Amino acid sequence: MTYIVIAGAGIAGLASAILLTRQGHQVEVFEQVADPTPVGAGLLLQPSGQAMLQSLGLLDAVKAKAAVVHSLEGYTGSWKTLDLHYQFAHEDWYGLGIHRANLHQILWQCALDLGVAIHLGNGISAFSQDAQRVQAQHQQGSLQVDGLVIANGARSLLRDQLCITQTHRPYPWGAYWAVLDKEDWPFPHILLQRYRGAQIMLGILPTGINPATNRTCYSLFWSLPKAEFAEYRQAGMPGLIERIRRVWPEVAEWLAHAPEATIAIAEYADVRLASYHQGRVVVLGDAAHAMSPQLGQGANMALIDATILAQCLANSGAKFDGELNSNSVTAAFAEYSQRRSKHIAYYQTVSRIMTPLYQSNYAIGWLRDLGTVAGRHVPAVYHQYLLTLCGAKQGFLDMRGVIARL
Ligand SMILES: Cc1cc2nc3c(=O)[nH]c(=O)nc-3n(C[C@H](O)[C@H](O)[C@H](O)COP(=O)(O)OP(=O)(O)OC[C@H]3O[C@@H](n4cnc5c(N)ncnc54)[C@H](O)[C@@H]3O)c2cc1C
Repeated sequence: MTYIVIAGAGIAGLASAILLTRQGHQVEVFEQVADPTPVGAGLLLQPSGQAMLQSLGLLDAVKAKAAVVHSLEGYTGSWKTLDLHYQFAHEDWYGLGIHRANLHQILWQCALDLGVAIHLGNGISAFSQDAQRVQAQHQQGSLQVDGLVIANGARSLLRDQLCITQTHRPYPWGAYWAVLDKEDWPFPHILLQRYRGAQIMLGILPTGINPATNRTCYSLFWSLPKAEFAEYRQAGMPGLIERIRRVWPEVAEWLAHAPEATIAIAEYADVRLASYHQGRVVVLGDAAHAMSPQLGQGANMALIDATILAQCLANSGAKFDGELNSNSVTAAFAEYSQRRSKHIAYYQTVSRIMTPLYQSNYAIGWLRDLGTVAGRHVPAVYHQYLLTLCGAKQGFLDMRGVIARL
């Protein structure tokens, strides 16, 4: 039996803990926050992430809390520019909009039911390794383990302790988000966006059940440059409502009459690593490849990471006579790093190209709109847009798209 410690009880950490525990490894999760119920808005789970949840046996539980999303539609004025329908990628595919806290709670409960030890308010602060073991230091002591999984999010400081070439670049733009209840919004299955150039973007994502009120809810995303954070904070809710009114008056009214609305600012970063492992340490989720949420892939990629890691550990055990010994952890992590590289590189590159088209001060909104509309009318290009959205592209040269399964 191998002994594995996971740093971080987010999506990547919990999904890994579930899969590795089921494979018979001894797993302990260390989470630095004492109460890890995530604040946050909606996430869009793509067919790629849904397949991973199916492998985890949690897809039905997720669907019970989520909203089915059939399409993504974006408008500049009354001109529909973005028009992506999942069913044109595959007749059975759709997105699932879910509140982050609901997804977290489902993963959390599953890990607890399996008896995973989760240490709260006790983060991993440092580690060292030799050929045999990893020494992981937490806030209350230290442990000698066979492998360390770093899954502690975009701002990971543990990542810095690896001798791996890496960049962490905060984005100059972020977003205001709010979760709003509504039973009678006329677009319960569409992620709708409105644009004014690349400077203004307002999105409404169907988000399923609001865990705070148990009512049907939607997530509002309003893109804003970091340089204006202070100005926005000063103007408060009335200022935000006024800006939104100029773009979408109905949504401004909705926000103005939503006493339950939680509202906050999100910041993003772009993280790149030349490799995802070093010896007995492997990096997953946002700690490995955080990106702007423009493509809606981060949570899905965290779930894929966990699933592929479990596959690699299982393969490695098979190669070593069915019994995973402590040395095969290194081989499994190396295989993981190699297997994840193309998929991650593709989505990071597309995210880097696309993000300024939707969030920047450049006068390129018209170029984006023309390109999106033109691409829509070329079936081969449209199909690639859809495969990208669904999380199915496995690399630049993959034209058919694959949804990986455990
Ligand atoms: C506004 C916004 C919208 C988004 N929309 C989407 C979307 O539509 N679809 C999508 O797929 N993704 C979306 N994402 C991205 C998605 O939320 C992330 O990719 C995903 O949460 C990453 O999961 P993770 O487990 O890697 O990291 P996290 O969820 O950040 O979890 C990391 C955990 O590690 C803990 N931690 C930190 N340091 C330590 C330490 N030293 N020791 C122990 N624990 C530690 C943290 O407290 C946290 O609990 C969005 C993100 C934002 C900000």
